[in-house]
Amino acid sequence: MKYVSTRGSAPALDFAGVTLAGLASDGGLYVPEEWPQFSLDEITAMRGLPYPELAARVMQPFVGDCLTPEKLHELTAKAYARFAHKAVTPLVQLTEQQWLLELFHGPTLAFKDVALQLLGLLFEEFLAREDGTLTIVGATSGDTGSAAIDAVAGLDRVEIFMLHPKGRVSDVQRRQMTTVRAPNVHNIAIDGSFDDAQAMVKRIFADESVTAKHRIGAVNSINWARLMAQVVYYFAASLQLGGPERKLAFSVPTGNFGDVFAGHVAARMGLPIEQLLVATNINDILHRALSSGDYSTGTVTPTAAPSMDIQVSSNFERLLFDVGGRDGAALAEQMRGFEASRAMQLTNAQREGAAALFTSARADEAETAQAIRWAYESCCETIDPHTAIGLHAALQAELPTDVPVVTLATAHPAKFPDAVERATGMRPTLPARVGDLFAREEAYTELPGTYEAVREHILGHAS
Ligand SMILES: *Cc1c(COP(=O)(O)O)cnc(C)c1O
Repeated sequence: MKYVSTRGSAPALDFAGVTLAGLASDGGLYVPEEWPQFSLDEITAMRGLPYPELAARVMQPFVGDCLTPEKLHELTAKAYARFAHKAVTPLVQLTEQQWLLELFHGPTLAFKDVALQLLGLLFEEFLAREDGTLTIVGATSGDTGSAAIDAVAGLDRVEIFMLHPKGRVSDVQRRQMTTVRAPNVHNIAIDGSFDDAQAMVKRIFADESVTAKHRIGAVNSINWARLMAQVVYYFAASLQLGGPERKLAFSVPTGNFGDVFAGHVAARMGLPIEQLLVATNINDILHRALSSGDYSTGTVTPTAAPSMDIQVSSNFERLLFDVGGRDGAALAEQMRGFEASRAMQLTNAQREGAAALFTSARADEAETAQAIRWAYESCCETIDPHTAIGLHAALQAELPTDVPVVTLATAHPAKFPDAVERATGMRPTLPARVGDLFAREEAYTELPGTYEAVREHILGHAS
């Protein structure tokens, strides 16, 4: 399996190459040269497999020759052994038609563990083969940082610098990052928004004064291996709810467009999907892009769902590439225009291609709280604000009544106790396995929101 850049000019890489590379050298994102296909019979044959085995089966075509099936299964078994639920991603029924897919049973209580626990093991495996090291630089609006740090803390060949927007992540999220005391973990709080932090990370990747000394890797969802691992739970949910004979719809609380893009990949591989609902909060660039073709950035407004408080969704570029004719040169041109003016119009091909599978919806703060309350009062389920935005979209969707609608439950409610308490009057408690999070000492560096300050810090502290 070869991977090509969405902007057409970076060299093609194999799976090990894209796992360690992150962003392509031409500024694009790596995507498989073509989508592997499963027949309906092959999908049916996956029914009943334990999650780690299903994961290895679904991911093998993307991995190609880089890992044997036995090795891949060994890694998925190890990655998912740390989950607190035997099903790894269990389904919970809300109504006859509505379901939750709980993705938060990993070590840091967010769906990002599903991919990052595996990614840490993949890094270790591929770096050992070439006796190399990797310096990870990432930006987080909350959950990526904690999940990535948990996944790589203590690894010998990996060092991590994680930027978060100061004061804009929840206490639980911050503590899950800053209380991990390992010599290879560096936390940085910057003055600015998540988008500012993400823009700095993109500059680090392109800065030769850094890349000449350190091999820079990515853990945010520009890393292909993360999206690949997320494709698996679309198959898992479908197989449990009557697939592949029966089509499902998925509602996905969306920020950087990684999780929902994984649903698009599942569909491309042959999994029958009726619809993918892109659920956004009031930071709704994706809703505007999908409903009117207008992809223009505004300012970021903080909400109760901070992991979705972003304007530029990196992975949207992957969708534009895939549905817009896979023309890297044309997309590079379009993205240059977007980067200059912070706005672009989707082409007709992109709009029509996206509309075949995607719809979108937006929830404001009151609607988010309302969905939390509804789940609590009508279904006895406590959900977090991100999940609530997905559920709001799922409840609004006009779908045939025989199509199950699965909302991806992306975080444990105890990660966002204030919002849950405001909506329900009940304060969710952290699961015992998270332990003494609020008793542990924090360590992080505060930096001004300038690129130079961040660059100097990384160069000064990377070993
Ligand atoms: C990261 C995150 C999201 C957004 O996922 P994307 O893949 O960036 O679209 C939604 N909810 C939670 C809880 C998250 O941590």
